[in-house]
Amino acid sequence: MIELKSAADLEVMREAGRVVAQALAACQAAAAPGVTPKDLDEIAREVIFGAGATSPFLDYHPKWAPSPFPGVICASVNDVVVHGIPGPLPLREGDLVSIDCGAQFGGMTGDAAISFVVGEAAPADLALIDCTTRALQAGIEAARPGGRLGDISHAIGEVARAAGYGQLAFHGGHGIGREMHEEPFVPNKGSAGEGMELVPGLVLALEPMLHAGGRDWFRTDEDGWTLRTDDGSRAAHVEHTVAITADGPVVLTLL
Ligand code: MG
Ligand code: MG
Repeated sequence: MIELKSAADLEVMREAGRVVAQALAACQAAAAPGVTPKDLDEIAREVIFGAGATSPFLDYHPKWAPSPFPGVICASVNDVVVHGIPGPLPLREGDLVSIDCGAQFGGMTGDAAISFVVGEAAPADLALIDCTTRALQAGIEAARPGGRLGDISHAIGEVARAAGYGQLAFHGGHGIGREMHEEPFVPNKGSAGEGMELVPGLVLALEPMLHAGGRDWFRTDEDGWTLRTDDGSRAAHVEHTVAITADGPVVLTLL
């Protein structure tokens, strides 16, 4: 069932989203060679719990995972696409890091992700991050009343396809509200004009995950969480929680 959110719900979601944005900004500011993803997780914990929010990531245990998720962020480095467990391996100059973070506040949830490079960046990594960001922006622009869910999927997928980047099949965004993952599923590629109608009050987490390789295959580490590209190519992931309103899309996970 899809629950439409009231204006009052959206105000609370905006607060949850602000906490997520603050945690992500703190992680990016602290990321440097020698800093570990575990350190960044500690920083995000301080922001989230310090704001009186809770983490929907911590101890999250979907059916497909062998164990509950141990962090408040996913830290996905280089060829890891998503769901990287924040571990003790220090970041290095030139690493492409994607941080995904969520917060629950006042009974509502925010979910967002950023990608950036530690220290000096390879031009190819910047281009991949730029394209992933443009794909998200295109998806946000398509999140308008009267449109269809497929318009969003199509917008995201076309930006990736036009640039020659791959996207994991069967991964995408989701409805969000009281729970982090609500209906509907939002594929990252699709046909415009298809799928459910977009109506005010629908809130979606849009999250393109692009990789530089040509094959849309991935493999999972033994931890059961970490998703890597099959060919070792680098991946980027960005995400915003977006409300569809009568006035158009409103991003809820900004500072
Ligand atoms: Mg997320
Ligand atoms: Mg999400």
